[in-house]
Amino acid sequence: MIVRPFRFARLSALGIPHGVTKRDPSLPAFGSVSGNVTISIVLANRRAWWERLGLPLEHTVFARQVHGTRVTVVTASERGRGALEPGTGIPESDALVTTERNLPLAMICADCVPVLLYAPDVPAIGVVHAGWRGTVAGITRQAVHILCTLFSARPERLWAFLGPSIGPCCYEVGEEVITAWLATEPSNGHQAVLSRNGRAIFDLWRANELLLVEGGVDPAHIERAGICTRCHAGEWFSYRANGSRAGAQAAVIALP
Ligand SMILES: [Zn+2]
Repeated sequence: MIVRPFRFARLSALGIPHGVTKRDPSLPAFGSVSGNVTISIVLANRRAWWERLGLPLEHTVFARQVHGTRVTVVTASERGRGALEPGTGIPESDALVTTERNLPLAMICADCVPVLLYAPDVPAIGVVHAGWRGTVAGITRQAVHILCTLFSARPERLWAFLGPSIGPCCYEVGEEVITAWLATEPSNGHQAVLSRNGRAIFDLWRANELLLVEGGVDPAHIERAGICTRCHAGEWFSYRANGSRAGAQAAVIALP
């Protein structure tokens, strides 16, 4: 049985091609689309997944992700960067946005939150890689800010989707993570901080929702997959469950 990419029903209904790849035991290296296996396997897996996504891999733009806050505007001249030669991805970017049609954008994740953005009034799209460092630094709010300032997107019309990633059930962190998050004074920031058995929990889903709302996004336009990659490590790549050798999935979105 072929494993289908994860999709958000509402984003599909809005007519936006997108998806998140998963683990697939029938593929080499379980279908990982990044790192830690030979490049030929990575490319074969990307080809297999992109065929299932119905998107052209050779046109897709990838980034060299660094857990930073840079949002890069992608233009047609960058078509295909990093798709077949990962070293040629957009440098030092953890968020990509574009107004170009048929120019899919991809982010690699393995527990970090992939956030898909759609501004129907421009139209424009974006994809964000939000781990704890990027979240603390406000990358998701920054991506919304770029869409609204550079492309004049109206924040209240934006749609945002949080993909499968490590959930509040599993994301125990050191106190320094919580301290760093609260130090940025996010509105209602405490809502993303939990504790269980004396251990601090950082709720990356809630934190990114708070950042989106701070950016002006209507809470009714924010949807989360609500799937924890660590709890479901048989279906998803999870750094916490399997370490850096586990592999990774990709979140992809395109403007048709
Ligand atoms: Zn979990």
